[in-house]
Amino acid sequence: MSPATPRLHAADAGWIEVIAGGMFSGKSEELIRRLRRARIARQKVQAFHPALDRRYSESEIVSHDARRIPSTPVADVAAMRRALDADTLVVGIDEVQFLGPGLVAFCEELAAAGRRVIVAGLDMDYRGEPFEPVPQLMAVAEEVTKAHAVCVVCGAPASYSQRIVAGEERVMVGAGDTYEPRCRAHFERPAPRGEEVARTAAAGGETS
Ligand SMILES: [Zn+2]
Repeated sequence: MSPATPRLHAADAGWIEVIAGGMFSGKSEELIRRLRRARIARQKVQAFHPALDRRYSESEIVSHDARRIPSTPVADVAAMRRALDADTLVVGIDEVQFLGPGLVAFCEELAAAGRRVIVAGLDMDYRGEPFEPVPQLMAVAEEVTKAHAVCVVCGAPASYSQRIVAGEERVMVGAGDTYEPRCRAHFERPAPRGEEVARTAAAGGETS
């Protein structure tokens, strides 16, 4: 997908890599692939994932295609900071959109201390709008990879995650039956929140 060792940095300096994309785009697979290569190169690797994601086992990152790597579940940045070993060279973080505020600053701090930081996460919400912190991370990263799923309608590369059940949460955990990948042409953008309410009210007015 992309070179395992980008040449965009000094040999002894840290840097940030972002793997961004929608649901089912293979972000976790790519993260696991890079972390495995670092381990083969005998670098000390630590991986983290949000404690709330039930798709994971307790102690591993598991991709949709069932690849896995040991990982520590954490609730937030503070927990990650506590769990980080002093001699870790490569830090992988999956599903960063669930880890709360302070993540961008934390990644920059790790990179400034000479570590390679590889993060994976959703770059857009179900409305097709940029979803923090991934866009901010993309801006400060040395390397950005956009992963694509396959549009369920036409088979083209898909950047959007179409929500196929109702819900108000910006991202629902456990993507299984909740989203399907769509390309730009087949993504049906949900109405802005305010309009949805107004439309419902208008429809109610007509029938009464
Ligand atoms: Zn399509």
